[in-house]
Amino acid sequence: MSSLKIAIVGSGPSGCYVAERLVRQGKGVVEVDVFDRLPTPFGLIRGGVAPDHQGTKGVARVLSRALDRDEVRFFGHVEIGRDLRLADLRSMYDAVVLATGAPKDRRLGIPGEDLEGIHGSWAFVGWYNGHPDYAGLDVALDRVRSAVIIGNGNVAIDVARVLARAGAEMDKSDIDPVVEAALAAAPLERILIAGRRGPAEVKFTPAELSELGRLQRARPVVDIAEITAVDNCENSCFTVLQEFAERPAGEAPVTIELGFRLHPEAFIDNGEGRVGAVRFRRTQPQGADFVDTGETIDIPAELVVTCIGYETVGCDDLAPIGGVFANDEGRIDDGFYVVGWAKRGPSGTIPTNRPESHALADRILAEVAPADKPGRAAVYKALDGVAVVDIDGWKRIDAAEIGQAPEGRVRRKLTRIDDLLAAAQG
Ligand code: NAP
Repeated sequence: MSSLKIAIVGSGPSGCYVAERLVRQGKGVVEVDVFDRLPTPFGLIRGGVAPDHQGTKGVARVLSRALDRDEVRFFGHVEIGRDLRLADLRSMYDAVVLATGAPKDRRLGIPGEDLEGIHGSWAFVGWYNGHPDYAGLDVALDRVRSAVIIGNGNVAIDVARVLARAGAEMDKSDIDPVVEAALAAAPLERILIAGRRGPAEVKFTPAELSELGRLQRARPVVDIAEITAVDNCENSCFTVLQEFAERPAGEAPVTIELGFRLHPEAFIDNGEGRVGAVRFRRTQPQGADFVDTGETIDIPAELVVTCIGYETVGCDDLAPIGGVFANDEGRIDDGFYVVGWAKRGPSGTIPTNRPESHALADRILAEVAPADKPGRAAVYKALDGVAVVDIDGWKRIDAAEIGQAPEGRVRRKLTRIDDLLAAAQG
């Protein structure tokens, strides 16, 4: 009997969870090939999860087990649209699954957004995580006394925490020494995390928010008036915000202010083409929404990181609509599926993806029949001349990075594609 041949584009959590389920449930009659445009697997685990959250990054060990299985092949450094056409992939496999995530920053669409010193969190997080696309980002931290982070989600917390941590607080992380030196050189005094709504509407999770209260050189600050203005709050972060507001004022080199009812209106040029301040309009809650009060406030900032969510990008000639690939419960077309952030948008933590990916794998097994497709035999031919990184190549990269870890750090990432390809060859 011919085996069912499935291609998955993207090796982040949602793609790996689909692969794992397909081969487990497919019981020897399913072959899965996982493609990634980077030479390294695991998507957001490697490039998104903060370097000081190694416990979360440990999920890579679980995902690795899927890529290690006999029925699965990893095709790293293969970009669909550059090395292989999407239409060809669809003709070579019984089913194709897009698990390409949402690798593009949403924009605020306000004046001054393109000034130097303003970064979307996708790029900024990519920079401090050694993502090859952003390793050269010009962050100019040596002039940053005041940083403004826009958004009240967990990415905003990650960015604030990484900016605020110092030296030994990064022990056992995989922060790059170049990034660490840039962070240490910043004369940082103030970080403002600005939400456009109130403390009852934050999208943080309590564990992540609480961490801001345990930093060595930084202390969180919340205006008690913002807390007392709220009645009957059910948001699980509220008690943490209240605890921050009630803390006695202490001395710390860096303050992390959690500011509310601040709706970004414009970025103000410092006269040299760089951001010098952020202009906010004060808002007032109205139900779950907000209205403007007419008041504006300018906050000085030499660095701005917008943490307001992401959108997916096109895959070859398939364009997203409204930040995702149009789909019906994960189905795009016959034998063509989408999963994870590319399907539903940028929401949920890593474990959120597992049940969704498993349900999609079960659906594929139920509705796609093997049709004697050539699968990987055709792909190997089509990729002749492409420097494909297989799972053993990735393991060589992994070993090289761990082997060159600076003291007190768990790895030093290779941040250039050429270096990654060289390490993959051993
Ligand atoms: P998020 O949780 O959706 O938060 C986005 C924030 O941006 C919200 O506060 C939103 O405000 C604000 N925002 C959106 N558009 C805006 C605008 N035009 N002006 C001002 N503010 C705007 O997204 P995220 O922080 O990027 O996180 C993405 C997902 O990854 C989340 O599910 C998050 O929990 C997860 N994550 C988890 C962890 C972890 O578990 N450690 C770490 C990082 C990320 P409104 O609420 O008013 O729309």
